[in-house]
Amino acid sequence: MDSLWDYPDFDGHEFAHFVTDETTGLRAIIAVHSTHLGPGAGGTRFWHYAKTGDAIADVLRLSRGMSYKNAMAGLPLGGGKAVILADAARTKTPGMIAAFGRAVGGLGGRYVTAEDVGVNVADMVEISKQTKFVAGLPVAEGAVGGDPGPHTSYGVFLGVKAAVKRALGRDSLAGLHIALQGAGSVAGGLARRAAQEGARLSITDIDTARAQKLADEVGGAVVAPEAIMTLEADVLSPNALGAILDEQSIAALNVPIVAGGANNQLATPADGDRVQARGILYAPDYVINAGGIINVSTEYVGDGDEAVVRQRIEAIPGRLEQIWAESAATGRNPAEVADGMARKLIGRA
Ligand code: NAD
Repeated sequence: MDSLWDYPDFDGHEFAHFVTDETTGLRAIIAVHSTHLGPGAGGTRFWHYAKTGDAIADVLRLSRGMSYKNAMAGLPLGGGKAVILADAARTKTPGMIAAFGRAVGGLGGRYVTAEDVGVNVADMVEISKQTKFVAGLPVAEGAVGGDPGPHTSYGVFLGVKAAVKRALGRDSLAGLHIALQGAGSVAGGLARRAAQEGARLSITDIDTARAQKLADEVGGAVVAPEAIMTLEADVLSPNALGAILDEQSIAALNVPIVAGGANNQLATPADGDRVQARGILYAPDYVINAGGIINVSTEYVGDGDEAVVRQRIEAIPGRLEQIWAESAATGRNPAEVADGMARKLIGRA
C-alpha cells in the first residue's frame, strides 16, 4: 500500500493518529472516520497483528463501521476506533494502558473510547485516570452503563421478531425454529427471550460445554459448529464470528431469515446481493446489534436513564422495517440500503 489514503476503508477518514510510547512499548492507532454527529466513538481493540498494514486496515474498517452504526442508532456520536498493536505474547501492562489513555486525552474529545476485543472494564478504569473521554466504566446497580451484552441481546431479539413479522407474517416466535451460532453473551440473552416466547432452539458453539449449558437452560438442542449454517430453520442468528456469509455458505443456507448480533457478517458487499438473490431476509448487523452502543452512549452522554435506553433500543425494529421497505422498493439489498442511509446521516451521501 503506497499510503494511508490508498486503503480501501480509508474513505475520507478525518484523521488517523499513530501513537508510540517508548517507555511502555505502546504502539497504537486511533482512527476517527467522522465527527459529523458528535465525537468519534468506538472501542479499543488489543490484538496481535502479523503486519502493521493489517492493523491499519482493521482500525479503518472498524472506525467507519462505528460511524454507520452510531448514525443509524440515532446517537449524538461520530465513529472512531483504536487498535493497540500487541506483541505475539499479548503482553499488556497498566503502564501501556495509561499511556494509551494519555493519547486519547491528547485528542481533546475528538475520540471517545470503550471496550473491544482484548480490552476489559479494568483497562477502562485505568484509562479513566488519564482522560474523561472514556465509557464502559463500572456503574452502580440500576444506573445506565456497564455490560453492553444484555442490551445488544434485547435489540437482536426485537430485530429477529421484526424479521419474522416481515418474512413470515407472524407476531410471535412461538413454535418457530431458531438456529443460534454462538452461545455467548449476546446469544444467551436472545436464547432466553426467544425460549420464553416458545421458540425451539438449536445451539452451537466451538466451546461445547458453553453450548450445552445454554441448551440445558433454555430447553434447546446442541448441534455441531459445522452443521449450523445449513440447518433447516426459520431463522439463522449469527452471534459469534464475522464474515460467515460468503458465496459458498449463502448457497447452502436453509432459512428464510438471517438476523443476529455478530459484527460484519457479510464477507464482501457482493454477499448482500447473494443473500437477497436467494430470497432470504437479512437484518443488517450494525443496525440490529446497536443495543450495546446505545447503552454506552447514554452512559457517556448522560442524556437518559434505563427507560430511555430501552426506548432507544425499541426503535431498532422500526429502523429495520424502514430498510427492508426501501430495499423492496429499490431492489437494493438491505446492507446496501443501510449503508446509504448511514452515509446520508453523516453528511456523505
Ligand atoms: P462472546 O465472546 O460472549 O460469545 C461469542 C461466542 O462465540 C463464544 O462462546 C465463542 O466460543 C463462540 N464462537 C467463536 N467461534 C465460533 C464458531 N466458529 N462457531 C460457533 N461458535 C463460535 O461474545 P458476544 O459478546 O456474545 O458477541 C457475539 C458477537 O456479537 C460478536 O461478533 C460481537 O462482535 C458481536 N457484538 C457484541 C456486542 C455486545 O454487546 N456484546 C455488541 C455488538 C456486537
